[in-house]
Amino acid sequence: MKAMVLRAPNAPFVMEERPDPKAGPGEAVARVFACGAGLTIEHIRAGRAPATFPRIIGHEISAEIVDVGAGVTELRVGDPVTCYFYTSCGHCRWCRENRQTICPNQGPRVGYQIDGGYAELIKLPAHNFLKLPEGLDHRAKAPEVAVIVDALATPFKVVRYANVRPLEQVAVVGAGGGLGIHMIMMAKWAGARVIAVERSAGKFEGCRKAGADAVVDASGNDVAGALMEATGGAGVDVVIDFVSSQSSLETGFVALAPGGRLVTLGGSGEDFKVSARALLNKEAVVLGSRYATRQECLDTLALAARGDFWPMVTEVHPLADAEKVHARLARAEVIGRAALTIG
Ligand SMILES: [Zn+2]
Repeated sequence: MKAMVLRAPNAPFVMEERPDPKAGPGEAVARVFACGAGLTIEHIRAGRAPATFPRIIGHEISAEIVDVGAGVTELRVGDPVTCYFYTSCGHCRWCRENRQTICPNQGPRVGYQIDGGYAELIKLPAHNFLKLPEGLDHRAKAPEVAVIVDALATPFKVVRYANVRPLEQVAVVGAGGGLGIHMIMMAKWAGARVIAVERSAGKFEGCRKAGADAVVDASGNDVAGALMEATGGAGVDVVIDFVSSQSSLETGFVALAPGGRLVTLGGSGEDFKVSARALLNKEAVVLGSRYATRQECLDTLALAARGDFWPMVTEVHPLADAEKVHARLARAEVIGRAALTIG
């Protein structure tokens, strides 16, 4: 099979000819039609993620099962699938509570420590494959179907976790990026009024297209003031921060309405200060959210199949152009999600 390989962090992709993987006991192999290219996996290429090398990256896939190993009963050859990219233990307290993303016994992650979707074939433990529901065309709509399981599922989890309610005012910080654009869509789906906070003027239009009711220029001097103005002085009910720098988090907290929630999802992940008095007086909540549970991925796929929302894939390139796409990701030039087609 052809595979796009990273031999080391900060090294260019190399197209390699690899032996076709065979499914061992408990495993399955799928043919990949498309794989999403987002910031999460650009972090691997740039050496900012705990991955091992050489590595085939990519976990947002649209694929079809071609080989099933011994003992695998839940998959058959021909099944259309995508991928759940964490591996949790299944028996700890958090797994039992369906919170697999905070399982302390995480196994190898797809595209980090085991090979992922930038290849013609992918071999995974069978339980990492998620069967696609009827209504999602894994071939004709391969790029869009591929990215649902992260680009949409991660924001879907935020809507549930931060309890975004109809008519609430939600600010998405870093709104023009791959997750931000889909967070706008998902907050709109939840019935909220959405304010996009974005630094790059070239992304304002994309934010509006995704459904943003207002856009605040994050390069301005008084972003908190702009947020207060954009909410008619009421403050923001939920700030969802994909930038998570000290200044973006502190600004977001200041702009929170009483009862507000401030959500961080990575980004810079910097330390920040909040006033305990303001936290108390507002009864505000500061929370972190990462990826999505297996069931949230399945729910997101089902809702996309039903037509509730659809991912914004703005760039589709062949696998051979991975280097070009990742250079654009590194420069934050991609609006929404990019995807690579394979085969
Ligand atoms: Zn666990």
